[in-house]
Amino acid sequence: MTTLAKLTSIFSHTNILQPILNALKRLIWANSATILMNLKHFKLQEFDSPDAKGSGDKMDKLFLQKLDQAREIAGCKFTINSGYRTQEHNLKVGGRFGSSHKLGLAADIAFRGSRERFLILNSLMQVGINRIGIGASFIHADLDLKKDNNVIWTYKY
Ligand SMILES: [Zn+2]
Repeated sequence: MTTLAKLTSIFSHTNILQPILNALKRLIWANSATILMNLKHFKLQEFDSPDAKGSGDKMDKLFLQKLDQAREIAGCKFTINSGYRTQEHNLKVGGRFGSSHKLGLAADIAFRGSRERFLILNSLMQVGINRIGIGASFIHADLDLKKDNNVIWTYKY
């Protein structure tokens, strides 16, 4: 066993490293919220929960910047079907209790046809958005670091 493997093993058992990693992640998130928004392809209103005007500003800023980069790479329109969701709106649309939309860390992007589906998927992965859901006509892009990363799932609708 290598030293690194031993250390990793010890840390994973004693859970010493995890709180430190979590604290670091929180710090990064907190700072990302202060980054001045300068989106080329989106207006914050596009991410409003339909029941709360102006709530698009609750979207995670780093996530929006990544989405903006992805849109630039894809070169096709990103129509946002759903961005930020209030608790009430999430219930109304049948979203999961722990939905990343409620944290401003997810957006559903509509696509038309297999070409756009490819372009959007490809661009999301290029910018490091690594939690992706594929529906019949939309792609759920998700940057919730607290959930499983490097996953792609499908929806039956
Ligand atoms: Zn979604």
